[in-house]
Amino acid sequence: MAMNPLHGLRADLESRKVQGLYRSRRVIDGPQGVLVHCDGRELLSFCSNDYLGLASDPRLAESMREGTRRYGVGSGAAHLISGHSAAHHALEDELAALLGAGRALLFSTGYMANLGVLSALLGRGDTLLQDKLNHASLIDGATLCGAKLRRYRHGDMQGLQRMLDGAEGQCLVASDGVFSMDGDLAPLSEMANLAKQHDAALMVDDAHGFGVLGEQGRGSVAAAGLGFAEVPVYMATLGKALGTAGAFVAGSEDLIETLIQRARSYVYTTAMPAALAEATRTSLRIMAEEQWRRDHLQLLVKRFRDGAISFGLQVMDSSTPIQPVLLGDAETAVRWSSSLLEQGILVTAIRPPTVPQGSARLRVTFSAAHQPEQVDRLLEAMRPLADAA
Ligand code: PMP
Repeated sequence: MAMNPLHGLRADLESRKVQGLYRSRRVIDGPQGVLVHCDGRELLSFCSNDYLGLASDPRLAESMREGTRRYGVGSGAAHLISGHSAAHHALEDELAALLGAGRALLFSTGYMANLGVLSALLGRGDTLLQDKLNHASLIDGATLCGAKLRRYRHGDMQGLQRMLDGAEGQCLVASDGVFSMDGDLAPLSEMANLAKQHDAALMVDDAHGFGVLGEQGRGSVAAAGLGFAEVPVYMATLGKALGTAGAFVAGSEDLIETLIQRARSYVYTTAMPAALAEATRTSLRIMAEEQWRRDHLQLLVKRFRDGAISFGLQVMDSSTPIQPVLLGDAETAVRWSSSLLEQGILVTAIRPPTVPQGSARLRVTFSAAHQPEQVDRLLEAMRPLADAA
């Protein structure tokens, strides 16, 4: 007998609340930044992905205004109809030039870029190998494309090798470059060697590495001394370090042309506003030119880790601006987050299913706009919680 999917909703929501897994949104009033306004209070935030501190940079805002004067607000159509503007085209060229890629292709979001790439390249009978901690959009892309998905333990290169040995059909290995909830790096050189030995292709999702790592912020692949020969499919997002929104894929001419023909999340969706592409062009220039932002981030990360370790916090093996503090159960993570909030500090608790059971954490992230004293304030607020644990 058929069942109505709406009937069980209330019970499901209640059970989430009981388990401490209920999610709710916080309403922020004003620009994204180190200080955010929420419920009439000013909060010191350590939870955005605005790593370079560009989300509310006046130069980006001015480019966006200029973009709306020239292009209006909406793009009006998909790229393949009439939505592809000179601004989108210039941004794609500039991304490709910075990375040394044949070409680059914009997507409206990173989620859609991952769905689009996987479903354009793979189908039934193919094999997709992924790190267990990859972003949800790579996992969902696997379901959509119909290839056989096998997931190796986080960073386990022997596991990857075994899976490559048993792979059937066309084979793609896909990994986050920087893992979004742990902040650590994928062993890209080893992965590239293994992929080459097995004639598989390697795809890197560098949402958290692009702008943050490597010379001029070119990302985790460049930082590992690799290029498109080793990592032919490079995807990164624009809503994090770049401070705007959207994503791109960079690779060969053939890859990009194939995505234009086949990636359904590209073909059947409205292009991002052209003014946003204009703002992103400015942000890309700032990203490449202002090395001090990456240097400053490294200082903040070191200051936090040294302080946290000195009073026994369990930080994870991360050198990036993602510095999770491992707490274990969801309830403890929520309690710590609430206590920090009472002191005017915003750090979100990350709970299952976003992270594995028993590894709930506070995901602390830094921005180049943070001051060292603000890191000290966070540490001072965490110390009594650690002492009481
Ligand atoms: N990949 C990774 C690793 C991410 O962290 C995210 C964003 N959380 C995405 C993809 C999706 O990007 P977007 O937010 O642009 O959809």
